[in-house]
Amino acid sequence: MSLDFQTVAVLGYLLCLGFALGFSLLLVVLRGQPVLQLWTASQWLLAVSVTLLALRAQLPQVPAIVLGNLTIAASGVLLLCGVARHLGLRLPPWQPLLLAALFMTGIVVFLVPFPSLAIRLDVFSVFAVLINAWMAWLLLRHAPAQQRTSCRLAAVIFLAQALLYLVRLGLPVAPGAGDDILRTGAPMFATYLGGIVLELARCFALVLLLVERMLVELRRSARTDGLTGLLNRTAVLADGELTLRQCRRQHIPTALLLLDVDHFKQINDRWGHLEGDRVLHHFAGVLARCVDADTHLLGRYGGEEFVLLLPGTDQAQARLHAAHIREQLRLQPARIGEVTVSVTTSIGLAVATGSEDLAALLAAADTALYQAKADGRDRTVSAAPVAVT
Ligand code: GH3
Ligand code: MG
Ligand code: MG
Repeated sequence: MSLDFQTVAVLGYLLCLGFALGFSLLLVVLRGQPVLQLWTASQWLLAVSVTLLALRAQLPQVPAIVLGNLTIAASGVLLLCGVARHLGLRLPPWQPLLLAALFMTGIVVFLVPFPSLAIRLDVFSVFAVLINAWMAWLLLRHAPAQQRTSCRLAAVIFLAQALLYLVRLGLPVAPGAGDDILRTGAPMFATYLGGIVLELARCFALVLLLVERMLVELRRSARTDGLTGLLNRTAVLADGELTLRQCRRQHIPTALLLLDVDHFKQINDRWGHLEGDRVLHHFAGVLARCVDADTHLLGRYGGEEFVLLLPGTDQAQARLHAAHIREQLRLQPARIGEVTVSVTTSIGLAVATGSEDLAALLAAADTALYQAKADGRDRTVSAAPVAVT
């Protein structure tokens, strides 16, 4: 089998068009993703660039080459901006634009006053090495913790592209190629083939970046309570079970606080449910500021009830913690319009010291909470030691 440059060029061209179309279809489905918009625009610019370079025999040479390289530079800049945005970084636009401007200066200088295809190819290779290495570095350095897999995979593809163009920098251009990019010789030909494969891999890597991020967001929203932003009941129970098991293995106690807003129905009845929601949000905010997000587990158990799990905390420490929460609630009343509304809570406290499971601990805290309500509210009641099963 023999492959000629012309066929490979046409294949590469068709692939670029296909990717641009594919990204446009993705954009139709995954609407409202600015990063995908940037990457789709980047793919279309690449397709335009390849079209211009393929048709340059039929077009006026200099404008076709200048425009072809300009669109390829713009494509690279958009790709880079998309990567930075995906990582939540604010990339000053002048940085990629400066790189693109230097690249274009090199292309124009070695096209008009000192025409040389070999040097233009080198100029392009340097640009490709720098921009690909830049993206790889951003992905490796700023990958969000839960999206490391896709960021690392994409970084590997960008690094491979950088390496490919680094190798191409050292390759000779066949003598007699003149200004024809299709007659630069076998080693160059091999890099074009490699480029096509990596282009394919790069598109998958970009899609993978989006997929992993969407998965993380979906998982997060499935675990979050929409009103308060705390963990929802499902998540706090699942994580609570794990925390409890871990504490058991380490032979340390776990305290559980069940908190219920006092007379919350009256707030709803007096101010309406919308204001009631705001008060709940405020209450959750005060709680969240009272806990250590790294070690404690706080969630909305349901309605106006909240659950707080304190690993490594015994009865006395837990009571102090409960007192601190009630004190902070007293110091930070809710505001409804101009009115200050004091919000208090009753707390049922249970401590696991043996092999109790979460259900038993919750049941004990619930009984204690019931007692706290019966005793007059705005207080903490400790449960009797939880039965060991
Ligand atoms: P107690 O001190 O005995 O706990 O009295 P309470 O009024 O707080 O308790 P009760 O169980 O009688 O009422 C709880 C109210 O909380 C009833 C329900 O409508 C309200 N509620 C539950 N979830 C929400 C919510 O998400 N938003 C609002 N605004 N109200 C809620
Ligand atoms: Mg309640
Ligand atoms: Mg209540």
